[in-house]
Amino acid sequence: MGTGIENHHCRSIGGGGSAGGNSVCGVSRPIRLIVVHCTATRVDVDFTQKDLLRCHRARGMTMIGYHFYIRKDGFIWSTRPLERVGAHARGYNEESIGIAYEGGLDRNGLPADTRTERQKFSMRALIRTLKKDFSITRVCGHRDLSPDANGNGVIDASEWLKQCPCFDVAADEWCS
Ligand SMILES: [Zn+2]
Repeated sequence: MGTGIENHHCRSIGGGGSAGGNSVCGVSRPIRLIVVHCTATRVDVDFTQKDLLRCHRARGMTMIGYHFYIRKDGFIWSTRPLERVGAHARGYNEESIGIAYEGGLDRNGLPADTRTERQKFSMRALIRTLKKDFSITRVCGHRDLSPDANGNGVIDASEWLKQCPCFDVAADEWCS
C-alpha cells in the first residue's frame, strides 16, 4: 500500500506550478487551494479509513469527501482521485484539494492540535509536493473559510463556524 505522495507525485506537465492551466497526472480541473481538516475525533480513539468512509456515506456521499487522509501513524491515504471534485468545504470544492488528519480533539473531547510528529511530517511533505505540482495560491484551514461576519477582512476566532482543523494552518512553514 503506497502513500498518497507516491500515488500522486509525478512530473508537472506544461508548466504546472506556474500561473495558467495545469494538467498534472491527468487532473484537468484548476486547483488553487488546499484546505486542511481534522476528523474531530479524540486523540485516544482510532478512526480508520473505513470509519471515515462509513461516516461520509451516512451523509450521502459515495466516497470519502477529502482527497487525502493522514492517520496518526503518519501514513497518507489517497481517499479520492484528485481529478474528482471533493466534498469538504462548501463553496470551495471546485478548485481545491481537501486533506484531513485523524484527530482534532483531546482526551476530554475538546478541540486541540493533536497531530503527532509523524502526522506533521507527512502533512508538510504532502503539501509541499502538491504545491510543486499545482498552481496553489493558498493553503488554509477549514475554519478560515468561514464567512467574514463583521467585514473586517479577517476571519476572527469568533467567526469560525467550527474549529476544524484546530490549528493555525497559515502559520505553518508551507505558507512561506
Ligand atoms: Zn473541516
